[in-house]
Amino acid sequence: MCSGDGGFGRSGCRQVVNLRGRTVTPGLVDNHNHIVLLGLRPGYHTPLESAASFADIAATYRQRIAALPAGAFITSIGGFNPVQFAEKRLPTLAELDAISSANPLYLQVAFIGPSTTNTAGKAFFASRGVAVGADGSIAAGPATVAALNALRAVQTFDDKKRGTRDAMTYAASLGVTTHFDMGGFLIPGSPNHEDEFVFDGAASWDPYTAYDPLLDLHRNGEMKVRVRVFFLSMDNAAATPILTRRLDNAFREFGNDWLRTAGLGEFITNWPLFGVVTTPSNYPAAVRKAAERGWIYQQHTLSSAEDEVVIGNMETLNASVPVAPLHWSIAHAMTITPQQVQRLKALGGGLALHGFRYLAGTPTAAGPPYRMIVDSGIQVGAGSDSAQISALNPWLMLYYMTTGKNSSGVLINGGQTLTRQEALRLYTRENGWFSKEEDKLGSIEVGKLADLTVLNADYFSVSDEALKQLNSVLTIVGGRIVHDAGVLQIHER
Ligand SMILES: [Zn+2]
Repeated sequence: MCSGDGGFGRSGCRQVVNLRGRTVTPGLVDNHNHIVLLGLRPGYHTPLESAASFADIAATYRQRIAALPAGAFITSIGGFNPVQFAEKRLPTLAELDAISSANPLYLQVAFIGPSTTNTAGKAFFASRGVAVGADGSIAAGPATVAALNALRAVQTFDDKKRGTRDAMTYAASLGVTTHFDMGGFLIPGSPNHEDEFVFDGAASWDPYTAYDPLLDLHRNGEMKVRVRVFFLSMDNAAATPILTRRLDNAFREFGNDWLRTAGLGEFITNWPLFGVVTTPSNYPAAVRKAAERGWIYQQHTLSSAEDEVVIGNMETLNASVPVAPLHWSIAHAMTITPQQVQRLKALGGGLALHGFRYLAGTPTAAGPPYRMIVDSGIQVGAGSDSAQISALNPWLMLYYMTTGKNSSGVLINGGQTLTRQEALRLYTRENGWFSKEEDKLGSIEVGKLADLTVLNADYFSVSDEALKQLNSVLTIVGGRIVHDAGVLQIHER
């Protein structure tokens, strides 16, 4: 019996799969996403990131509903943007009722809406004091946060475990076998919230209990994909008490190949979220503490002003604590300059690049400059920054990286595209560096972990538009089959 322990199992048997000429790639590695938050979504979260129209939403929801208990609350919280739909808006209550009247439906854009619901969903929200328009609309901001919290209020620990299983199942179906999780914002009311930046929305959690469902699945051997945890903290105080407690009490680079504590990020102190121009006053001391304790660290930036803060502090620190052995990186780097890239390269730092502008980017809000960065020779890898403002689906990200086009097909990142070979390399082999696992992750080689995906079509020869339809027919992690679409014949020997 080979089933159950997969591949080269304890019984010593083996399985033989005839791929019939299909393309195999290394398991994809997403070097920056929020898969733990994705698993904690209330309701039966159903990704809409690949939907191009309301008809696609209907098809996705009907397929999902058919597999769930009667009356299940279907949610899509983040990971899509109305501009990706041909209709360029959210569906109305009547349009959602036409998909299902028996199941409550709730769609929320990004962190805090706007949102929309059907009649069954409206009844639930109205009974909990949430303001819903006659057309099913729920305003962005406090009304959407109230709707989200009404759903969270009826969520059980088992629901969170089920959601986490669903998130891993979805990732495996797309061939993403390793996820660098970059944490969440501190939700109001969490322990120590008086000391930190606090925010509520789809990207928010209690950082002390948020990992419990995942830890439970890990203990029970139910992991389907690998997760690398980065601890996010946003101290206001000069003494950085939250970060300091993490550094004093958490083990770095600890765990096993399925689940490991990797590093710090994507924030280490409070940080102005849109275009910092001055250094947060507690930032220099925070990076020094992190470096002295030897932690891997990845910092979010959206502007070159922020890149300047991060690189300038790394240069100062490097005079006394060498930065290169720490594998520190900047995440997103949407407008980093060639000069800044060279300074970061000289320090031995890296760049983690994310194609989130695919969903709703414009020619004036595009980036990152993939071409310039790859040509610089710096350590660089890619990921998604899903699943609030970006898509977890790596094939959408690879489409953006190689075509420069957004979800509407508009060229927004011209002159900065990569070849398919380069882009795939950034999504696989180059990402091991970001957790000091170059020897284990990202390529199919003797001595590395046996993570690979068999594709439904050939990544290297399909048309640009067909890249968006790629997925996995068979995903293997550590020699174990974690996703099988049932199109290949597997023989036990
Ligand atoms: Zn970020």
